Amino acid sequence: NLDFHPSGRHFLQIPGPSPVPDRILRAMSYPTIDHRGPEFGALGRKVLADIKEVFKTEQPVIIYPASGTGAWEAALTNTLSPGDTVLMYETGHFATLWKKMAEALGLKPEFIGLPGLEGWRRGVQPDMIEARLRADTARGIKAVCVVHNETSTGVTSDIAAVRRAIDAAGHPALLLVDTISGLASADYRHDEWGVDVTVSGSQKGLMLPPGISFNALSPKAIEASRHATLPRAFWGWSEIIEANKNGYWPYTPNTNLLYGLSEALDMILGEGLDNVFARHDRLAEATRRAVRAWGLQIQCADPSVYSPVLTGVIMPAGVDADAVRKIIYEKFDMSLGQALGKIRGTMFRIGHLGDCNDLTLMATLAGCEMGLKLAGVSLEASGVVAAMDYLASAARTNTLRA
Ligand code: PLP
Repeated sequence: NLDFHPSGRHFLQIPGPSPVPDRILRAMSYPTIDHRGPEFGALGRKVLADIKEVFKTEQPVIIYPASGTGAWEAALTNTLSPGDTVLMYETGHFATLWKKMAEALGLKPEFIGLPGLEGWRRGVQPDMIEARLRADTARGIKAVCVVHNETSTGVTSDIAAVRRAIDAAGHPALLLVDTISGLASADYRHDEWGVDVTVSGSQKGLMLPPGISFNALSPKAIEASRHATLPRAFWGWSEIIEANKNGYWPYTPNTNLLYGLSEALDMILGEGLDNVFARHDRLAEATRRAVRAWGLQIQCADPSVYSPVLTGVIMPAGVDADAVRKIIYEKFDMSLGQALGKIRGTMFRIGHLGDCNDLTLMATLAGCEMGLKLAGVSLEASGVVAAMDYLASAARTNTLRA
């Protein structure tokens, strides 16, 4: 019934799209302007400059009016040629989808990873990448593609270590990284980590609705794009880079989402990236303490790569995670992320990203705890109390308003 809306705020605790703050919604409601007029150029120049701070790059960042999937396609078609071999690493569902796209585009992906479902509980293993590249004496592999924050599992891989693995093998392959769900929530360093193309999206840490996505480039990626022959038109970087020099696009950009992006960047850079990351780390730690107190397992089995963006909560054998999510949605008006692909039904995902604070998280965990109990899941202890104790003690040294 679309006419009925429950009172209070819907809790959108999926790992993206994340809740859009009122301030951003209001900014997006400004009237759409002439995308070739002078005011627009100023907006374009501002967002194109400020977004670089978030990627930690001095190189061009392309902004597409498209979802993240479009920016995935752009990264591949701008840098590669038909039949090129690409080394892709299976961290979960999104890595798998990117591999399927590579196949559809006429590339030859080699998909490596840990056996069985082990790879869906751990991060990228740089030694496997290094070994494969060392064996590639003919230098047939043109790119290494990895997902930084695997949204389907809640694992944040070590991209600097992947860079070191490529360098240790002395291999010239490009490094393409998906941080669609990591950007502006987890620390990310495009230039320092030597990433050639970073792919990201608007609807996660940037707190925007879906609809814009990014390619951050490197000089090596731009050079590769001059020789790469996969067909591309809309996604082609060169015309966009040219038009972007003055703050414009070669086609009609997503004006109102760019108003939102400008506002989001003011908020994120105003809070300070390090503070944003520390807040995400704190909320993620509180969530994990809740899961452990419940006596349940976390999908990510390696504490060194826990995601600050989301936490996957594995259900005890015989419990359908989607039935638990349904109860929580129907009784408490909260949406949690479903398990995707190979692990469907086995766990649910709690998003704690973007416009989220201690009290938002406490309400989220309370909804989970009540829903788990209603679903008949026996819990060892209160996760709400465990999380609250942790956040209360963190608050002793942590002040929102100095
Ligand atoms: N990659 C990752 C890691 C994602 O989380 C998503 C979406 O959730 C995508 C790719 C696909 O992006 P989109 O759904 O915006 O096309």
